[in-house]
Amino acid sequence: MLVKIDQIRDAGLHVDEQMNLELLGATLEGSGFRATEPLKVSADFRKVSGGVLLSGKFTSRVVADCKRCLTEAKLELPVSFTINLVPESLVRGEGVLDEEELEEKDRGHGESGGSFAMDATDEEVFDGKVIDLEPIVREQLLLALPMSAVCREDCGGLCTNCGQNLNDKQCGCETKFVDPRLAALKNIKLQG
Ligand SMILES: [Zn+2]
Ligand SMILES: [Zn+2]
Repeated sequence: MLVKIDQIRDAGLHVDEQMNLELLGATLEGSGFRATEPLKVSADFRKVSGGVLLSGKFTSRVVADCKRCLTEAKLELPVSFTINLVPESLVRGEGVLDEEELEEKDRGHGESGGSFAMDATDEEVFDGKVIDLEPIVREQLLLALPMSAVCREDCGGLCTNCGQNLNDKQCGCETKFVDPRLAALKNIKLQG
């Protein structure tokens, strides 16, 4: 996923890349999420004053254990991002980046396909010659993950008494006369 700065013409450069499951697995390790298919990344590079503007998007399809009933929850996460890539020579040297100008160009681009619109444009430093898309995509993927997953919004979860999955059927456990103090505890548990 390397792009040389020389490859970017005045009209910009469009790149379609794919991230394989192995790399996705390594990226998601420890997150509680698992990828189910390779990630197709669409990226546009444009030279702007003081660097390169990267606009990218992908749809991440992942699975995780539902936090309420523990069955597999499927998620589809559309991600779009815009990043100012600034050559390190500019960061080190005399150059003061004109952020307003860059933002203006960003707005002019006006391509908002994804449902996650980023307000602020992120900034990343690169060596001025080669841009590696991979770590950027991996970071964006992690940023897009929710705190936890549910298999569906109205998931009934598991009975705290017998463990029955209440999406499948009611277990018939007596829940009417629960001590209110215990009920409060139960709520805390469910939110976790
Ligand atoms: Zn569930
Ligand atoms: Zn039960």
